[in-house]
Amino acid sequence: MQLLDCHTHTELSPDSSAKFIDMYQQAKNLNLYAWSVTNHIELCRYYSQEFYATQPRNEEDFFNYALRWENSMQENQFAKELISSENNMQFINGIELGEPNADFGLAKSLYQDKRLDFVIASLHELPDKLDFYFLDYAQENISDLLENYFNILLEITKHDCYDVLGHITYPLRYIAGKFHIKINMQVYQDYIAEIFKSVINNQKGIELNTSGYRQSYGKPFPDENLLKFYKALGGKILTLGSDAHSPEDLGKGVQTGIALANACGFDKVCYYLRHEAHFININ
Ligand SMILES: [Zn+2]
Ligand SMILES: [Zn+2]
Repeated sequence: MQLLDCHTHTELSPDSSAKFIDMYQQAKNLNLYAWSVTNHIELCRYYSQEFYATQPRNEEDFFNYALRWENSMQENQFAKELISSENNMQFINGIELGEPNADFGLAKSLYQDKRLDFVIASLHELPDKLDFYFLDYAQENISDLLENYFNILLEITKHDCYDVLGHITYPLRYIAGKFHIKINMQVYQDYIAEIFKSVINNQKGIELNTSGYRQSYGKPFPDENLLKFYKALGGKILTLGSDAHSPEDLGKGVQTGIALANACGFDKVCYYLRHEAHFININ
């Protein structure tokens, strides 16, 4: 089977210390057919701290993603030329575009950058809130948070600034996985239906993010039920990504994810070049 990993990070993301060369070595060891580096570009903090006239809210509150964007584009472009001349691996110049809702105009102009192959749109934090990673769920109204999250995600789907939606059940990584709070996803079914329909109508896709398999959540984002729901609504475009921030995690869970996709009725998964989906048979 041809393996792929369309969601990985290097040290150009603030939450990774992985050297590109070590990630590449691991991608070669795994014999990946397609591999994308998708460093974080958090659009809500794209400019310098002075621009926002605000203080970092914690030790991981970084600004100036504009610089990370340029560095990542250059590293990925360099890698793409090198890798395509060396072997058969498809290298994909990607980004994980966080909070495109912070500036849809900017999101669209980044999406149109000629160097870029692939954009995963993610929502890691709500306006005026910290990343879901940092929230204290004992103090939060969780149903308000999730309603707000899915509403903004729906808004994102309507803008031409992404190829796939990233880890669409991201808050569950913390609410269910870390805080062990049970969530009845049936309550949000209508929201999610609207999101999937909008994605499909706009010829975009979603990713199956396999990081949850190796975390306390124990399931991918989205899980089997939602993956079946996406398929039932006509969803065809599905990428797979480990969300690795280190070489050890590269490709992790992808084989299990492909088996799950297959069990949910998908006979193909895809990777992107120049914002165009390329399909791989998984039967
Ligand atoms: Zn993410
Ligand atoms: Zn990521």
